[in-house]
Amino acid sequence: MADPIRRLVQELARLPGIGEKTATRLAFHLIRSNRQQVRDLAQALIDATDKIRLCSVCMNMTEDDPCPMCTDTRRDPEIICVVATPSDLLAIDRGGHFRGRYHVLHGLLSPLEGVGPDDLRIAELVRRIGAAPAGTGVREVIIATSPSVDGEATAMYIARTIKPLGVTVSRIATGLPVGGELEYSDQATIARALAGRATL
Ligand SMILES: [Zn+2]
Repeated sequence: MADPIRRLVQELARLPGIGEKTATRLAFHLIRSNRQQVRDLAQALIDATDKIRLCSVCMNMTEDDPCPMCTDTRRDPEIICVVATPSDLLAIDRGGHFRGRYHVLHGLLSPLEGVGPDDLRIAELVRRIGAAPAGTGVREVIIATSPSVDGEATAMYIARTIKPLGVTVSRIATGLPVGGELEYSDQATIARALAGRATL
């Protein structure tokens, strides 16, 4: 295999869910593709990684800081829905049942994989809740992590951490299949899970 192809295969194989075999197939596909298409792909990768950053308020990925959701005055700033990933946020927001704000953790606590509280955006959530004087800021925090072991542990940890700040902490109902991934749940299930949330 020529060196530039080998390098391309190596880079592609670093992506999640892509093994050596798929990487090789993709590499040969790209090499055979129209030059302009490949340039467009490369430019899209560069633009996305250069221009996208984390919103300093909700930690979601955005081009503008603060992001459009954090500046949308039609969204209730007193309710924050805490999610593990930007794709979970999209899954919940697609249904349009939740009209508050969000906070993205970027992962779940996982002692087995060495993910601790400092690896997640929990400190930013605490700061966000504490920023407003008591009674004027966040009223409720809904923790919408998946009902997996890590999702439950993360919900419990966050509840313990933010309850002393005087907010109501609730957890989405377990209408989701156990161990089920939020991002793959249908809108009716997510709506039920939100409506049936229980105070922690
Ligand atoms: Zn934001």
